[in-house]
Amino acid sequence: MISFAKLFKCVRSQNSVSKAIQTLIDKGYYDPSTRSVKAIKGKELHCANWQIEGALRMLFHVLDPQVAKDPKNLIVYGGSGKAARNWECFENIVETLLTMREDDTLFIQSGKPVAVFTTWKHAPRVLMSNAMLVPKWADWDYFRELERKGLTMYGQMTAGSWAYIGSQGILQGTYEEFGAIAEQKFGGTLTRRLVLTAGLGEMGAAQPLAIKMHGGVALVSEVNLAQIKRKIEQGYLDTWTDNFEKALSMALSAKDRGEPLSIGVLSNAADFYWYVAEHDVLPDIVTDQTAAHDLLNGYIPAGMSFEEAQTLREKDQRRYLELAQLTVKRHVEAMLHFLKKGAIVFDYGNNIRKAAYDAGVTTAFEIPGQMVFMRPLFEEGRGPFRWSSLVGSEKDIARLDEEIVSMFSKNAKLVRWISNASKFVKFQGLPSRVCWLGYGERAAFGLRINQLVKNGELEGPIWVGRDHLDCGSVASPYRETEGMLDGSDAIGDWPVLNALGNAVAGATWVAFHHGGGVGIGYSIHAGFGLVLDGTEEMGERALRVLTIDPGLGVVRHADAGYEKAKSVARQKAIRTPSLR
Ligand code: NAD
Repeated sequence: MISFAKLFKCVRSQNSVSKAIQTLIDKGYYDPSTRSVKAIKGKELHCANWQIEGALRMLFHVLDPQVAKDPKNLIVYGGSGKAARNWECFENIVETLLTMREDDTLFIQSGKPVAVFTTWKHAPRVLMSNAMLVPKWADWDYFRELERKGLTMYGQMTAGSWAYIGSQGILQGTYEEFGAIAEQKFGGTLTRRLVLTAGLGEMGAAQPLAIKMHGGVALVSEVNLAQIKRKIEQGYLDTWTDNFEKALSMALSAKDRGEPLSIGVLSNAADFYWYVAEHDVLPDIVTDQTAAHDLLNGYIPAGMSFEEAQTLREKDQRRYLELAQLTVKRHVEAMLHFLKKGAIVFDYGNNIRKAAYDAGVTTAFEIPGQMVFMRPLFEEGRGPFRWSSLVGSEKDIARLDEEIVSMFSKNAKLVRWISNASKFVKFQGLPSRVCWLGYGERAAFGLRINQLVKNGELEGPIWVGRDHLDCGSVASPYRETEGMLDGSDAIGDWPVLNALGNAVAGATWVAFHHGGGVGIGYSIHAGFGLVLDGTEEMGERALRVLTIDPGLGVVRHADAGYEKAKSVARQKAIRTPSLR
């Protein structure tokens, strides 16, 4: 019989808890005086087992300065996507993970640890819900009011669920996106093609490298010089200039020579896009990845530097938003100009069309969303599967690169990606890899990883997870679920089923979020983490989670009437009672 004292043990002794966290401070993983957090590496356990340690390590990893965009404010990426609500909550989460037992489950409400209950050893160790609001109240204004009161936190997709792996995660998605466009429009390559885009943030910076991997030339407008330099240092961008004429001539001559090149242009996107348009240059592809889903925190009005924008944002939010709206209007009008002239133009999932529409651009939605190119992959249950070495071993990631190439050697795009990634990608925080895998493939690879850990062929346990931008885990009518065949764009049941399914199947943690990618009110989505520690139990849990998770993606698309998804469901014998 389980006692109430054991079940409701949220209140902990402050002394023992502080002692636990002191170990991490002594080892230099956390410095409370400077609020700096470093990825924890090595084989020594600090928690009751690797399941809990894995959650602790991924939390520290997403806040490592190599990984996070603004770690002092706990912001990981994507405008203001955070890993914990505030520093007090961060410490309470860490203390709880360090002291909880192997059958405890920690409940986190929008970045704040609120309870620990005893569940089961094979249940998730952490359950989180981030930024959820009752639908009628779900807009930025109300969200910000609650945020100011300290009641909630914006978790983006992989910030609040501790699954962000630096720019590489999105690099793979961006590689797939531009690869799909290359295949569908340009005979499989971007050689001698010019792509105009903006935003070199934590996600956006994947664009120049992905475009180069497909042989193209990238011109990327970015208003923050520090971010441009950071991305050059990390190997995501080749060069930069603030001279528009020089930028354009470098790009056009590289395009003529058929030489892949990426150029950062220190500029506001609205200004630079119109400069390109007025000089009669028609890029082949035009998109944008400023964080326009959040005009206040992620989008910079024209006519001011990054630093001036920060000052105005703090001083006068209303004025800031007025100016941001004027800029986004001009920015999207330039994109519409390129669309009319015949370029391939698309909204890259940052809700910029809606921001411009609200600012008066009634034709903004003539620009298509990114799913035009990506949905066929979702139909097969494909999506951004990823893994990290929890002990920090680069060798383990290299070993798994070999393994995945040998398991899926017939998939040329996968093989090219892994070879490119092992050459170009610099690890940030814990060494990691990402690769789009489909239904059946994820379970097979997860089981293989667990076996390699068990056999001692890897140096330590591996975390696996994914972005929330996946085939079955998100409802987002301006992005992942835009224009569904049966009109089910705004049906929110699928991500709920996804989270529930992964929880009962035994993921190590499960997170349910609102507002990722496109902003508050526009999306709900779910993610998970799974720690493969080489035990038989984790092998079984991996098989279940990694089958259900992409399986629901296939089913979601089959249910909406997509033929390829229906045939995948049939071929793989997924049981779908309504489709018989
Ligand atoms: P971020 O906040 O880290 O970076 C945004 C960058 O844009 C910053 O460096 C900022 O200085 C720059 N910027 C802002 N306004 C600008 C302007 N007017 N002109 C030039 N530069 C400007 O955000 P992120 O993590 O890189 O994400 C960018 C956006 O892309 C977000 O809206 C995110 O939700 C979306 N996104 C979509 C996908 C997808 O696959 N659909 C994937 C990832 C991110």
